[in-house]
Amino acid sequence: MHTSGLHHVTVVSSDPQRNRDFYEGVLGLRLVKQTVNFDDPGTLHLYYGDGLGSPGTILTFFPIPGLTPGAAGTGVTERIALAVPSGAIPAWRARLDAAGIASADDATGLVVRDPDGLSIELVESDEISSATPWAARTDPAIAIQGIAGVYLASAAASSTERVMTAWLGLADHDAGVFRASAALGGTVTVRDAAGDPRTRRGAGIVHHIAFRAAGGGEQLQWLDHLRRSSAVPTPVQDREYFTSIYFREPGGVLLEIATDGPGFARDEAVDELGTRLCLPPWFEEHRAALEEHLPRLEPAPELGARA
Ligand code: ZN
Repeated sequence: MHTSGLHHVTVVSSDPQRNRDFYEGVLGLRLVKQTVNFDDPGTLHLYYGDGLGSPGTILTFFPIPGLTPGAAGTGVTERIALAVPSGAIPAWRARLDAAGIASADDATGLVVRDPDGLSIELVESDEISSATPWAARTDPAIAIQGIAGVYLASAAASSTERVMTAWLGLADHDAGVFRASAALGGTVTVRDAAGDPRTRRGAGIVHHIAFRAAGGGEQLQWLDHLRRSSAVPTPVQDREYFTSIYFREPGGVLLEIATDGPGFARDEAVDELGTRLCLPPWFEEHRAALEEHLPRLEPAPELGARA
């Protein structure tokens, strides 16, 4: 079996308004859903992506106010690469400068840290494009198109590499670099981090990465395939906007297989995505208590209006 690429990346963060100000206001992603962590409904779950929150464009956050910063070490996704159109990097450098956010060039792109210290790399690509890009907050010529790839720091790199090829069906592209069939969300880079300190969990640390399954039938095939590959996947879990199975690979990284559908327009009109707190039916009876307890977020200020 093979996955067509990454579906989403989920991160633990701290202050939710600061998170929104950065991902919506600075990076220009669309906040496509405000809901709760289904495993801990006292915590928000924010989803950002392209205009629809299409698979391969989604970054999600569990913001826990006041959470202390973590430190990425082994067994974790240590960097997320986001794709921008060719030639857009100079404009991004200027945009980040104007927002007072430090950025640095590296061999493959422009690296910036989110407010919790998570490493984000902007990479130019003509291949990686969204069918429904979101440019309400940026010039369409520079808008982020989606996830280009992820960088994994593995405690057992050869095992992690085997997971990428034998379990997930990615192609062995270059030393430590693996490619899925889709360009969007298509690249996984594995770094041998054996001997590095273990990851200290906290704000700015990636919780898990999810790969795509076309639908529920394919997800059941994945469940069977993973069990036969000696993984220990969870049963299928209903995440409302997709269904999920989770398993940990031998290098320590938590992985998920998520279905493409039903998607974020399930409970909101497309032009209203992300504008209110959405709850799955099983939490609806607790709405009043949750709304009382959860932080209420304002839209990110326009960049020029930042204090
Ligand atoms: Zn997930």
